Amino acid sequence: MLLDTFGRVATDLRVSLTDKCNLRCSYCMPPEGLEWLPGPELLTDDELVRLVGVAVSLGVTEVRFTGGEPLLRRGLVSIVERVGALDPRPKMSVTTNGIGLAKVAPALAAAGLDRVNVSLDTLDRERFVTIARRDRLADVLAGMAAAADAGLTPVKINAVLLRGVNDDEAVPLLRWALGEGYRLRFIEQMPLDAQHGWDRATMVTADEILARLGESFDLAPVAGDERGSAPAEEWLVDGGPGRVGVIGSVTRPFCGACDRVRLTADGQLRNCLFAREESDLRSAMRAGATDDDLAARMKASLLAKLPGHGIDDPGFLQPARPMSAIGG
Ligand code: SAM
Repeated sequence: MLLDTFGRVATDLRVSLTDKCNLRCSYCMPPEGLEWLPGPELLTDDELVRLVGVAVSLGVTEVRFTGGEPLLRRGLVSIVERVGALDPRPKMSVTTNGIGLAKVAPALAAAGLDRVNVSLDTLDRERFVTIARRDRLADVLAGMAAAADAGLTPVKINAVLLRGVNDDEAVPLLRWALGEGYRLRFIEQMPLDAQHGWDRATMVTADEILARLGESFDLAPVAGDERGSAPAEEWLVDGGPGRVGVIGSVTRPFCGACDRVRLTADGQLRNCLFAREESDLRSAMRAGATDDDLAARMKASLLAKLPGHGIDDPGFLQPARPMSAIGG
């Protein structure tokens, strides 16, 4: 088991497939992009599947492929197929910006993918260009529709609200998502951007989002025990069955129930999104480590997991890697 000293068990592995992305969302990356990881440092498909297999042998039951933009990984469909062949088979999902999803959704579904999360912060084309610095809204919408058609459901939508940019879109986004049958979740902006431009004072908080939604919808909390270790608190909208989630990572941290662990595209295990230390599984593997050695390293990494991400601590330091290089 991947147990930590606070009694939490990691069962949900987030695997970054690449640090590269084809968008440049202002709260994530600078316009010019970043210095990408050198090719030889990236895990090969075989290495990646092997590490996921070791994690599954230690009790991981859910695998989320992310990045960077995971659809940019050439071997994605085959990786999904191979991870789906592990015993016991983990549940598999992808977090994507949706670009290219329209084309690949049927193949992903056929390979055994269960679901997708698609990121979308605005329904307005010009705003999309302002936020993501690329004119790709139509591709994202087409990707979501194709995912739903392929049965990669429920299609969950992740939205980040930015003050003065799209914070008036909470209600329109929810109305639209309910109409399309997508599950919308708002994520508080976190201090994980490469530019270090996050400012708590201007962050749109979970309370604000709920207040805005509450002006147009009747929100009833979904019974507490349904949340479990899920990051999103959920509300039934207008009596249900539609619902909306809010991931208040900063103002409503859920570290006490965290069941996540992360593997970066260059083979570093991170016990927290905000961890400042990593366990170098790639070097160990390339130096001949056995599966038992790798399992021991994974367990040791989890034993060092801190009780919380510490954003509110006076001494909080943003991790050296930005979200795109960790795997969001
Ligand atoms: N490229 C994929 C995508 O767009 O979903 C996967 C990686 S992306 C880093 C994963 C999620 O992290 C997206 O929903 C994105 O909006 C979110 N994200 C990125 N930077 C963030 C930040 N500073 N605070 C909160 N969420 C952030």
